[in-house]
Amino acid sequence: MSARVLVVDDILPNVKLLEAKLTCEYYEVITATSGQEALDKVESENPDIVLLDIMMPGMDGFEVCKRIKSNPDHAHIPVVMVTALTDVQDKVRGLEVGADDFLSKPINDIALMARVRSLARLKMALDEWRIRENAAIQFGVTSEKTNLMNEPVEGARVLLIENKEFERKKITEALSTDLNIVMSVENGMKAMELTAAHDFDILMVSLNLEDEDGLRLCSHLRSNERTRSVPIVMIAESDDMERVAHGLEIGAHDYILRPLDKNELLARVRTQIRRKRFQERLRSTYEISLSLALTDSLTGLYNRRYLEVHLEKLIENNAKSNKALGVIMLDIDHFKAVNDTHGHKVGDEVLKVFADRMKDNLRSFDLVARLGGEEFVAILPDVSPERAYMVAERLRCAIADEPISCSVEGGSLTITTSVGGAIINRGGHAIPAILERADKCLYDAKHAGRNCTVFENKGKLNPDEHKQVERSFKAACDPHTDDFSGSADGPDAATGSI
Ligand code: GH3
Ligand code: MG
Ligand code: MG
Repeated sequence: MSARVLVVDDILPNVKLLEAKLTCEYYEVITATSGQEALDKVESENPDIVLLDIMMPGMDGFEVCKRIKSNPDHAHIPVVMVTALTDVQDKVRGLEVGADDFLSKPINDIALMARVRSLARLKMALDEWRIRENAAIQFGVTSEKTNLMNEPVEGARVLLIENKEFERKKITEALSTDLNIVMSVENGMKAMELTAAHDFDILMVSLNLEDEDGLRLCSHLRSNERTRSVPIVMIAESDDMERVAHGLEIGAHDYILRPLDKNELLARVRTQIRRKRFQERLRSTYEISLSLALTDSLTGLYNRRYLEVHLEKLIENNAKSNKALGVIMLDIDHFKAVNDTHGHKVGDEVLKVFADRMKDNLRSFDLVARLGGEEFVAILPDVSPERAYMVAERLRCAIADEPISCSVEGGSLTITTSVGGAIINRGGHAIPAILERADKCLYDAKHAGRNCTVFENKGKLNPDEHKQVERSFKAACDPHTDDFSGSADGPDAATGSI
């Protein structure tokens, strides 16, 4: 994987050295020799990682990092401080202003490369979600870009895997500063049990477990479905950089070296929690925007866009499986009069109840969408003509037979709907043509006097006949698996939930 690395150091030979090492590993390198130049390059060159010297004349590395992290467009870019400072307080200060790691000069090449690769991977994942956030902004789900640094860091659920009791105590105590909820176990077996039963925000794994390879445990946690995306922080001896590097390669997010410093521990854990919550936030706004893009906000039903995509899939499946598809189109009768007489708000109430009744009378895997205005369509996969007629009639009666509650004098209105339907036999049909066939029947139903159902190649249905069919179908069905009443099945797939 390649990435664009910005190397910042006021001493040119240092820049050149790092540049050479990174270029050897096929990274694209850009350079800056002052704080201000670094900020300009972050803005103009869009790097994936910044390797940042601390001691620079003018603006020092702490300040540069702080400025990068306070800009919502750049806060997610990983920053690694590269410095001759070894004091733990400097390290903590760097982490607190948002640096992702702190490497001491002279730089250990293995540690550097493992770190750069691991951060580049994380950055790529975040980039993907940030692109989607832009879509969410366009849909108005969120008005501003989320800034990683604003994520709360308290109250995370931490699982600590460490066999030394005093270390467990010390870490638990340190993490309680941030009101984290810490569960600790002494081996991998117990860790796997706990992760199967609980959700965690962060996993801390000692690489010095008794009779057990901590790296192997990291690898298990990485491949396990439930813990795959939970950040792992390794706890290692300071002379164990090779295993730490290996851990980063297999997907651990960070590490801390013994003897553990409380503030460094807190700062590193906070970084991981922040990043995890940031990613979760991006994901959730994306999911909301996706559902907004595909559903109708008034009724919660799928919209035309979703219907078209979904119908395409169904037609493909049908072509393979030789099954028939029922397409039922409905249009409320004289709906304009409802609006004209009672107002648009009442019209909206009617549309909502209408949609609910559709959902309640279809199977969970049938699809119902609002095409626009007071026009709806239901798609019944794998259906016989008789069954399709029956369902169409059932939908029509679900509207006509029971007044619709709404805010009018008397509390309800009686509404009817006209219904048109077509059976699509296997394969080879274009979607507009399919919808047109059902629409043509709907038009015929309007002309036949409304509140009736017309099917292609069948004509106007006789309501009594189909009531009879429904009764005999119902009698033959186990009420709990009844795929006709819809309610037993739950209307989830027919609704807007995706
Ligand atoms: P027909 O029986 O021939 O279908 O007559 P109609 O009055 O139902 O049909 P027409 O197409 O003349 O009128 C549809 C009306 O639906 C007009 C439009 O204002 C109204 N409408 C469309 N979308 C909405 C909506 O979201 N809310 C409300 N309240 N009314 C809507
Ligand atoms: Mg109408
Ligand atoms: Mg209409």
